[in-house]
Amino acid sequence: MNPLNASAESLAAAYLADGSLPPLPQGHWIDGAECPAASGATLESLDPGLARPLAEFAAGDAEDVDRACQAAARGLAVWRRSAPGARAQVLRAMATLLRQRVGWLAVVDSLDSGKTLAEAQGDVISSARLFEYYAGHAETLEGASIPIGPDHMSWTLREPVGVTAHVIPWNYPTSTFARGIAPALAAGCSVVAKPAETSPFTALLMARWLVEAGLPPGVVNVVTGLGSTAGAALVAHPLVRHVTFTGSVPTGVRVAQAAAPQIASLTLELGGKSPLVALSDCDVEAAAEGALWAIYSNAGQVCSAGSRLVVQRAVHEPLLAALLRRTRALRVGHGLRNPDMGAIHSAQQLHRIAAMVDGARARGREVLAGGSMGADEAADTGWFYRPTILDDLPPDDPCVREEIFGPVLAVQVVDDDAQALAAANGTDYALMAGIYSRDIGRALRLARDIDAGQVTVNDYWAGGVQVPFGGNRHSGYGREKGSEGLSAYLVTKAITARIQS
Ligand code: NAP
Ligand code: MG
Repeated sequence: MNPLNASAESLAAAYLADGSLPPLPQGHWIDGAECPAASGATLESLDPGLARPLAEFAAGDAEDVDRACQAAARGLAVWRRSAPGARAQVLRAMATLLRQRVGWLAVVDSLDSGKTLAEAQGDVISSARLFEYYAGHAETLEGASIPIGPDHMSWTLREPVGVTAHVIPWNYPTSTFARGIAPALAAGCSVVAKPAETSPFTALLMARWLVEAGLPPGVVNVVTGLGSTAGAALVAHPLVRHVTFTGSVPTGVRVAQAAAPQIASLTLELGGKSPLVALSDCDVEAAAEGALWAIYSNAGQVCSAGSRLVVQRAVHEPLLAALLRRTRALRVGHGLRNPDMGAIHSAQQLHRIAAMVDGARARGREVLAGGSMGADEAADTGWFYRPTILDDLPPDDPCVREEIFGPVLAVQVVDDDAQALAAANGTDYALMAGIYSRDIGRALRLARDIDAGQVTVNDYWAGGVQVPFGGNRHSGYGREKGSEGLSAYLVTKAITARIQS
């Protein structure tokens, strides 16, 4: 079957029946063409739902990265001079291709990452929205005229920062690619992207589809390979002027150090330990539904997951009862079966999650739900962890302070609003917070005082491509999405002329 116009369901059914899958791209995408690693080396990607090989791809190193950066520098020379309307047209055409090919890209995304088909389809549509949204911005990048006196004229130009590097994580390989690449292209920048070594395929597909959409070759390049070789070479490359990195804090620190000698600017999105705060007057059923998907979406492998439930004592019991009822009903399985919760991305990640929960158990903490591995169907032999709730943890418990990046909810019980605020702000992270309350004034006072890049009220995942996203403190700096998401890719040039005759 031609995967480009096949439905997600038919592709998924064929794969689950006998492992059949249309061919995936194998090489890097450099200068508008597929090419193997200069060294000839390859890596193997695994299907997290079955823990078995999916496909091979190029294991790039510094030589491939250099070729890609040289291609991006040539691409930049063309793209930065393109008309804003032409840029917008390419981005819109890309959005159309993504919508037409949602089935194939979602199946690849699900196999790449382990997420459910519904989550993958949602992520492809979010990616299409990002290209549409920044297509609009491509034509509205205006500077300012600045009055400085009768003898001069002064105005600003907003110019592309140059070649940009994008280091993509495995939890959202598709939308993290679109979130950085769409504004970079709208701004007139060129791109070299390095997807995670365990989820390389959707970036490779999207890069070639951008050329189909009309993007000149060399403007977007993708080098696959290990973070420690290809990733490290990319963020330290002298041609790179901006690095957009999404991943862990320790790797973020290394990336910032590697970018410093070139004085490359940075956007760092480093994860979180975000609280969902349920106040005593909340709608308990709505808060339970919010808390459920805040933590179990993408099996908890979300930087902005609501991984802590900060609940006031007055509603602790009914809220936990409503949440437990929902949690126990969740089906866990291979992403392409489209259950409620898919796989954990890797064996390494699964064992990290299990070790965190086992540690809590050894400290005598109460495991209300989950706390073990496994899927519902015996055929799903990959990496799965049951949706888990750890009740009434003290503020210094490692499961409260550290990002677990799995389906593990840490519950903290507090009495008043001051304690709720202290708990919400009580970790090194400051990415996101959700508040549930029927009193909007009370909720908004808390929203004002919480340290986070974004706060939602009575709808944990409220937002969209228009809303800026990013963190403070150890969650990183810089903002993506929204009109602010463009600023990383633009530099201002002021031109001032003497006009006195
Ligand atoms: P990671 O090491 O931070 O990886 C993120 C990305 O950085 C991947 O593309 C990785 O490539 C690349 N990378 C690794 N070392 C690099 C280097 N020296 N220079 C440049 N790029 C480099 O994260 P991980 O090991 O996959 O996951 C560990 C933890 O990170 C998770 O448990 C979770 O807590 C956190 N995490 C957060 C997010 C988020 O959305 N903020 C996303 C993913 C993970 P390779 O994959 O090839 O190593
Ligand atoms: Mg890694």
